[in-house]
Amino acid sequence: MEFSLEEMREHLAALEARIAEACKIAGRSRDSVKLVWVSKFHPAEAVENAIALGATDFGENRVQEAELKFSAPRMAKDGSRVRCHVIGPVQSNKLKKAAIVADCIHSIASIEAVEKLERVCAALPGNGAGASQGKILDILFQVNAGEEETKSGLDVHEAEAFLADLETRAGNYPHLRFRGLMTIGKNTGVAEDSRECFAFLRGLQQKFLAKGGAFAHFDQLSMGMTGDLEVAIEEGSTMIRVGTALFGERDYSKPVNDPV
Ligand SMILES: *Cc1c(COP(=O)(O)O)cnc(C)c1O
Repeated sequence: MEFSLEEMREHLAALEARIAEACKIAGRSRDSVKLVWVSKFHPAEAVENAIALGATDFGENRVQEAELKFSAPRMAKDGSRVRCHVIGPVQSNKLKKAAIVADCIHSIASIEAVEKLERVCAALPGNGAGASQGKILDILFQVNAGEEETKSGLDVHEAEAFLADLETRAGNYPHLRFRGLMTIGKNTGVAEDSRECFAFLRGLQQKFLAKGGAFAHFDQLSMGMTGDLEVAIEEGSTMIRVGTALFGERDYSKPVNDPV
């Protein structure tokens, strides 16, 4: 059962209290942390309710589900256009569709994906973000900082070398804006267990942000979910990706249908 608007309003209030407390402990302002509403497995009506409650940014795992809900532009309450974040691993043959629907892809983890995205974005209509031609796309690199075999992302021991290599060829990607790093914390049920990997991510992100150049916009850390967002905020997260605490449990037996 999907939540009603009133139920979502209550869940949002409870979540905002958690975020506010974490920001207070970390000495950060609330507006330094963006809330990305993870709407995967929830229908378009849930997205409409979220927008009514002020949501501006949504996260989806699967490209087809993102297309279904976010291909048609939607307006947020603040008058901005709703942004779609692709946060799940994207197969090579879906990168073009991902580039079209997404404002930001959080899950890039190979040089092949970077190369292909650049080609794809160069051929898309401009989005007014700077280049005379093509779409400028924000991307984050996913690091498997939790070091769990089931998780995708750059190997934690190879992430720095990957970024350093990218730096040497950064001029090749005029349509991609390297925005930062993403990780999924350890799935132990204990939020504290993820602190170390969140701190590691921050160290790596700060190091590359300081280089400037191709990494001049590398100011984002996408980390923290329903179970560990406080620890993530304390460790510097700028984007928390929250599904369950806002929309309730996902019913994996009822995938949102692909567009026909
Ligand atoms: C599903 C998902 C989330 C949201 O998780 P919740 O625990 O429901 O908040 C965040 N990030 C990624 C990458 C996800 O796949």
